[in-house]
Amino acid sequence: MNAFNTLPIENPTFANENSLPIAVKDIFCEVGIRTTASSKMLENFVPPYESTVTENMKKAGFVSFGKTNMDEFAMGWSGENSAFGPAKNPWDPTRIPGWSSSGSAVAVAAGLVPAALGTDTGGSIRQPASMCGIVGFKPTYGRNSRYGVMAMASSLDTPGYFTRTVRDAGLLYEATAAHDSRDSTSLTEKVSIDESIWNRTDLKWVRIGVPKEYFIEGIDSGVRSAIDNAIAKIREMWAEVIDISLPHTEHGVSVYYTVCPAEVASNLARYDGIRFGTLSGNGNNIVENRSEGLGSEIQRRSLVGSYVLSSGFYDAYYKKATAVRELIRNDFTNAFTQVDVIVTPTAPTVAWKIGSKWADPLALYLEDIFTLPASLAGVPGLTVPVWYATPKDDSSVDLPVGMQILGPILWEEKILMVGHVLEQAMKEVVDSKKPKVF
Ligand code: GLN
Repeated sequence: MNAFNTLPIENPTFANENSLPIAVKDIFCEVGIRTTASSKMLENFVPPYESTVTENMKKAGFVSFGKTNMDEFAMGWSGENSAFGPAKNPWDPTRIPGWSSSGSAVAVAAGLVPAALGTDTGGSIRQPASMCGIVGFKPTYGRNSRYGVMAMASSLDTPGYFTRTVRDAGLLYEATAAHDSRDSTSLTEKVSIDESIWNRTDLKWVRIGVPKEYFIEGIDSGVRSAIDNAIAKIREMWAEVIDISLPHTEHGVSVYYTVCPAEVASNLARYDGIRFGTLSGNGNNIVENRSEGLGSEIQRRSLVGSYVLSSGFYDAYYKKATAVRELIRNDFTNAFTQVDVIVTPTAPTVAWKIGSKWADPLALYLEDIFTLPASLAGVPGLTVPVWYATPKDDSSVDLPVGMQILGPILWEEKILMVGHVLEQAMKEVVDSKKPKVF
């Protein structure tokens, strides 16, 4: 079997189909390989242990190609938040490649590797994959072990993949996802994909939900028409397209930016220079020294997180956010009684110019609007390139647009099947603008 159907197996560099090189986001610990989470704090950290995901990947015969740039500790919207300089979009290097697993998306889109590992806490696989014109796949929360993955927000962090085809994403998923007793949130259900899904060419009997809350004002008109086109294609393939509602979507951003900082404040407290992290020693005290090692977004979240957890504010903020999170989760549970999968735009815009939104954190926070609800609910998500759109700031370029496909918990097979069929249907138009990388 040709494990990666996009890779020419006759290429002599790859002696055996399974020794394919996989790029690894710099947040997965690998024994003896410097792993920094793109933070000055961990500039010289060499892990003494291996993450389960990379361990499983290597057991399956794949090899680690090297570490990829990312937003510091996976917090960011653009790949600009790395202590080691921004990642750049291969479609136009003056533009951002998308948020935190940015280097992994770039490595696949630029043809350096056939696949890469990333993590998705609030969209960091789906959004950069969409902006770089490749496939991004975040399985159900708990399918991939978090053991050995530097923690950002533990109730949301989900390892996953960047690939050039949906089928490749499915293959890597089968290689790495498994129960792991070292992660208390690891799921025990068996991971398997019915091979017959790769033979599907239509969507007969598949009910596809289109939530009205994801087609809002503020979405780029080019993105909107790309997604409308893809929905029309889905109809042509005999799916039943049903209008649905996910009524609590609008609260996704505020819930996420309460829960996530709370978990960040707890998780990042360990970087105190005693056991983990290096402090510069240039400041007057431990607080100043710590601030030198951590970027401003990390400091902002740690402050917000400590605030929402502090006594007196806990009930008003953190507790309320967890209650509303439940409502968002229920939205999905209810919707999946009516439909098999849900389709939405992955991001409201195409890739923007490096630096153009950096000074406006609020504008950046809103970029997450379409990916956060699925993260809060823990449901699996996939993004597939479907078309191109012209950015507002330059009419001479076309940039990729991805469609997000969300499924019920543990139903990765459904979204992979729909994604695969859609990918085949869109292949001609998507490939027409794709640079040939191999
Ligand atoms: N933009 C979001 C954040 O900064 C998502 C990041 C992620 O998924 N790692 O939290």
